[in-house]
Amino acid sequence: MHRVTVIGAGFGALTAIRKLRALDKQLQIDVIAPASEFVYLPGTIWIPTGLRQPEDLLIDLKGFFQRMRVNFHAARVTGLKDGGRTVKTDSGEITNDGLIIACGGRFIKKLPGIEHAITPCEGIPAALKIRDRLAQMKSGTIAFGFSGNPKEPTAMRGGPMFEFLFGIDRYLRKMGRRDDFKLVFFTPAEKPGQRLGPKAVGGLLSMMKKRGIETHLGSRMKGFTEGSVIMEKVTFDADLIIFMPGMTGSKWFADTDLARSQGGMLRADQYCRVEGQDKVYVAGDSGSFPGPDWLPKQAHMADLQADAAAANLLAELAGKVVSHTFKAELLCIIDSFDTGSIVFRTQKRNVVTPSSILFHWSKRFFEWSYLHKYR
Ligand SMILES: Cc1cc2nc3c(=O)[nH]c(=O)nc-3n(C[C@H](O)[C@H](O)[C@H](O)COP(=O)(O)OP(=O)(O)OC[C@H]3O[C@@H](n4cnc5c(N)ncnc54)[C@H](O)[C@@H]3O)c2cc1C
Repeated sequence: MHRVTVIGAGFGALTAIRKLRALDKQLQIDVIAPASEFVYLPGTIWIPTGLRQPEDLLIDLKGFFQRMRVNFHAARVTGLKDGGRTVKTDSGEITNDGLIIACGGRFIKKLPGIEHAITPCEGIPAALKIRDRLAQMKSGTIAFGFSGNPKEPTAMRGGPMFEFLFGIDRYLRKMGRRDDFKLVFFTPAEKPGQRLGPKAVGGLLSMMKKRGIETHLGSRMKGFTEGSVIMEKVTFDADLIIFMPGMTGSKWFADTDLARSQGGMLRADQYCRVEGQDKVYVAGDSGSFPGPDWLPKQAHMADLQADAAAANLLAELAGKVVSHTFKAELLCIIDSFDTGSIVFRTQKRNVVTPSSILFHWSKRFFEWSYLHKYR
């Protein structure tokens, strides 16, 4: 009987666990994560406007782990030894015959004054802060922005910021409060949303214009104060700042000999193998994978990579050739509180649909069906 360790309990990790168990009923699966719970991050865009409560998006995984016959270890990984065959954690060591790393990304919080911005990548607590501040504010300026990792352009997350922006705009309109607020969008990118495809950029900017959202584009970020956003070419006042910084890899990667990209992610090949390692795989936001320059850091990609990683690892353990690759595919619904637009991009196609109530409900339905597997 082989033993596989999975690090994380997010999108990539849970998909890897399902695939491992589906392919091998005997396998010993050890999972290491700080808590046996799953946070459905895409749904956190609806917390500030009250469409979701934390308990809708935080799933207790005890039942799922039992069904998958997984040994769960509540711990934080701190490093590796024996070429990845032993995982070091803050509460002991776990050995394996093969390893899948899916511990997500880390956000670069280096800008001076970043503590004055709410960073929604931090999940439910950050979304709750936005909700509470929005409820307290009678009027004022709300600034929404994102930036990237200059050393790795794909290590960024812009899509959700458009969703917070358009969602809150629409929500304020529905409440009859929009005239009391100024909404501002800022980013160092000249063309925000470019990775969603050329069609998306024009659409996003014209939507901002139509909704009376001020923009500050193409100027380097310098920092924040309690009441302002400072960019190289402009400084503007803001009462609430919502900002998604660029991403890098987990801190513990630095204490290992795992190959890392310029941006600090684990360097992997098309089979999700970490370069230069034996039976060490990576899936999701932790990895830097070969692919087009728009390859997204998305839950959908994490799922596709986890599927390939799990199948390849089991093939290797069985002495077979690894052959499973993943498609480079960007697929998301950019939601605006009660409507949404589908963005789809592959090497050959780029589709951006008009905004429709149908796609808002599709996003809600997708969330329900995705979470159903883990409840
Ligand atoms: C607001 C928001 C909206 C989004 N919307 C979408 C969307 O609409 N569509 C889409 O496809 N994607 C969306 N995303 C992106 C998506 O959520 C991520 O790409 C996805 O979560 C990445 O999956 P992952 O498995 O790599 O990491 P995660 O889901 O972040 O999971 C990482 C796991 O590793 C654990 N972990 C971390 N450090 C350690 C450690 N040291 N030891 C052990 N365990 C550790 C964490 O606790 C967690 O369980 C959104 C993200 C945000 C923040």
